[in-house]
Amino acid sequence: MKYYSLNCRSPKVDFKEATILGQAPDKGLYFPEHIPLWSKDFISSLKGLDKVSIGYEIMKPFVGDCIPKNELNKIMADALSFEFPLKKINDSIYSLELFHGPTLAFKDLGARFLSRCLGYFAQSQEKKIYVLVATSGDTGGAVADGFYKVPGTEVIILYPSGKVSEVQEKQLTGLGQNIHALEVKGDFDDCQRMVKMAFTDQDLKQHGLLTSANSINISRWLSQQIYYAIALSQWEQETPPAFCVPSGNFGNICAGLLASLSGLPVNQFIAACNSNDVFTRYIESGNYVPRVSTQTISNAMDVGDPSNFVRILEMFEHNIDTIRNHMSSYAFSDLQTEEIISNVYKDFNYILDPHTAIAFGGMLQWLQKNPGQKGIILSTAHPLKFPSVVEKIIGKKIEVPKHVEKIMQSEKKSIITEPIYEDVKSILLEIMH
Ligand SMILES: *Cc1c(COP(=O)(O)O)cnc(C)c1O
Repeated sequence: MKYYSLNCRSPKVDFKEATILGQAPDKGLYFPEHIPLWSKDFISSLKGLDKVSIGYEIMKPFVGDCIPKNELNKIMADALSFEFPLKKINDSIYSLELFHGPTLAFKDLGARFLSRCLGYFAQSQEKKIYVLVATSGDTGGAVADGFYKVPGTEVIILYPSGKVSEVQEKQLTGLGQNIHALEVKGDFDDCQRMVKMAFTDQDLKQHGLLTSANSINISRWLSQQIYYAIALSQWEQETPPAFCVPSGNFGNICAGLLASLSGLPVNQFIAACNSNDVFTRYIESGNYVPRVSTQTISNAMDVGDPSNFVRILEMFEHNIDTIRNHMSSYAFSDLQTEEIISNVYKDFNYILDPHTAIAFGGMLQWLQKNPGQKGIILSTAHPLKFPSVVEKIIGKKIEVPKHVEKIMQSEKKSIITEPIYEDVKSILLEIMH
């Protein structure tokens, strides 16, 4: 399989190069040259398959010859080493819980898959691979955990001091070893700006391979298809489900759409958004108008110009009617989000995090227009990641899962820096020596 850049000005590359580069040199996103079709056998036998076999089958055509069979199997087993249970909330809505991984967010699978692929590629690379990320919270934790102790890689995470939750900070700063946390005395935009400057800095390039681990990387994007197949492997109903996905950069839902083009039986995709609703408006009006993002309580979805929108356009040949056939979209304010958390806790004794609450709202709206159908919401974060919002609404403390207790007791290790590029650069140079 080859990948082309959606900006069309960079050469095609294989899985290895696309994964190492992240983004094409012309700044375009990579897209697979063709969409593989799943065999009827694979689809009809999903129910009997374990998650590692499902993951292997889905990723094999995308990886091609870049990773040998036994190695890809090992990577898959490692990336999928936790549970993805499908739980019934009520008669028509089921929740696919994607938050049982090490950092309690759905980004764990993509980050783990990417880190292990890069770790494998690093073995044949002369230089070390340096992964540089700016985070507002969730991405950094999943990346830190995913790359922890992966040979041949060093990870440098820039996060805004005092602006991430306690759990998130522990996940960024508690590991040590090849994970370096830079605590920036500024906001997320400062972190993002300095990461961008580092990527264009020729001095740094002499010291090692610098790459990013953000969600446009094909390894992160494509491996998310596995969620939808794992959901189907647990689906007991006769008709295919609708999927409602809480969306920010639209990587997750875009992976689901790709899986459905490969043959995964799906009724409809519903993109649930917070007040950053450019996609909802696009479905309504046909006009795509990106905006500056606004802050909400579902902050991992605070995106004003979703990076994967161009992939959705590519998939459906820029045809709004085709997109509307596959996708619906609804948006919710913070107030509505809080109401949903409260109602679902009261009515079904099920605790939603703010992101998943928006998915629940989206599914309810869709079901009103499509009575008698059933659907699955993707639960993207554990409510514990947003205690200040959720505990106030449900009126009790959320239990800390066993595997998180350990990191909560770890010692914070961070390098504090002003939001000045020269300062950050000298820290980077020290790490890269
Ligand atoms: C990143 C994130 C999202 C948004 O996912 P996209 O793939 O960017 O659409 C939703 N919920 C949570 C909890 C997240 O961390």
